[in-house]
Amino acid sequence: MKKKIIIAIDGYSSTGKSTIAKQIAKALNYIYVDTGAMYRAVTLYAMQHNFVIENEIQADQLIQNLDNISLSFKFNKSLGFAEVFLNGINVEREIRTIEVSKLVSKVAAISEVRKKLVKEQQEMGTFKGIVMDGRDIGTVVFPEAELKLFMTASAEKRAKRRHLELLKRGDIVSYEEVLENVQERDHIDSSRKDSPLMKADNAVELDNSDMGMDEQFERIMSLIRSKIKTIQSTS
Ligand code: C5P
Repeated sequence: MKKKIIIAIDGYSSTGKSTIAKQIAKALNYIYVDTGAMYRAVTLYAMQHNFVIENEIQADQLIQNLDNISLSFKFNKSLGFAEVFLNGINVEREIRTIEVSKLVSKVAAISEVRKKLVKEQQEMGTFKGIVMDGRDIGTVVFPEAELKLFMTASAEKRAKRRHLELLKRGDIVSYEEVLENVQERDHIDSSRKDSPLMKADNAVELDNSDMGMDEQFERIMSLIRSKIKTIQSTS
């Protein structure tokens, strides 16, 4: 039987991590976990419960309520990936709005929130065979992951892609607003005290500013194949 591994994909916002991670998981028949969706769902909970006042998160209130937040993923066959559920309700669509995007990095900087979500993420990887994307997967969640990727692209390219995605959904938002959000999240995510976004020492960096999806997929699949080959020949 082929050895199953953990594939950790980290990088800046809107670098296409989740798109490529879904494709890889499908090709390998692995589980895909979008950890950004978990931080977004906690943010939505804070918004729904009025734990946000003038764009500031009421961290104490949110922390006190963390035990009341239950997150789960359910595979949607027609979409081909698992959607995120907050306390039993499908919130896959609501968590992608610009309003959630504007607050999520502040929520993700709260250590208690990270502690809860990291624990849940580590449990999901118990049996390996998993592709997980986020900001701290190769550094904190699975420092022992067999393959680590770090994705980058220019802020303008990323904002353009994310803006198009939001327009396709029917959201009304300007390119400038999206660019500002991408840059603000880059800053908060990279400078926070707890688990800042950074490339793990042994991660392979991929700048996909000028790379097509097919080329990216092929590059990553060949990295995976050689990694599995090496592991199998040494075990
Ligand atoms: O991946 P996505 O852009 O949906 O993530 C939303 C936000 O969640 C990020 O900007 C970051 O603040 C936070 N995040 C994180 N750690 C992760 C995944 C996401 O801090 N592992």
